[in-house]
Amino acid sequence: MSKILELLFPPRCVICECAGLHFCQNCRVSIVDVLKQTEITGLPLSAGALYGETLSQLILMAKEENISAARNVLVDLLVYAYVKLDISEARDRPLALIPIPSSRSANRKRGYRHSLLLAQGVRRRLQSRGEQNVEVIDLLKVNRKISDMSALNREQRSANVSEAYSITSLRNKSRVDGRVVILLDDLATTGSSIGEAMRCLRAVKIEPSGAISAGVSPHLIS
Ligand SMILES: [Zn+2]
Repeated sequence: MSKILELLFPPRCVICECAGLHFCQNCRVSIVDVLKQTEITGLPLSAGALYGETLSQLILMAKEENISAARNVLVDLLVYAYVKLDISEARDRPLALIPIPSSRSANRKRGYRHSLLLAQGVRRRLQSRGEQNVEVIDLLKVNRKISDMSALNREQRSANVSEAYSITSLRNKSRVDGRVVILLDDLATTGSSIGEAMRCLRAVKIEPSGAISAGVSPHLIS
């Protein structure tokens, strides 16, 4: 059925609207050029693309408009980031993907949970590549009001998420046992959310091995 639909309505690029693919090669090349690796307080971070106009649009479409073609591109970028993540010693072990949560009010307003959907997309993609032992564990929650980050500078962002996360349940915590823990987010702007998530996990004796994001701010890797 989907094949017939694709013949009748060929996909268009979510960014430039050219016909053929949901995310065309030109737009892909414009954001995925070189490897983006950095560290957030000692934790390796791998990102699929550099943040700019294209990625900004993709994130907005997936996060606020629930457009699955845009979400699929972010999942692609996250899988690419995961493949490039420097955790070679841990590659064969079971994996726990832990999404960095949005605030409860944002989740309520949207009616879906953006980073959880991304993590589930990554799990499906990894499973289809033969990595069977991947779990998405909903371990982090936002435990107080946090502001929208987009207008904040580095210090404000850091204060905004300081001690903002806590774990959802001891049951979820025990599901992490024996797994390589990877944090997952759509975008690393200053690294403050990833840093704070890492502090929260370390406080309950969970040591993440790395973090992946679909995009990263250019200044974080320069
Ligand atoms: Zn395009």
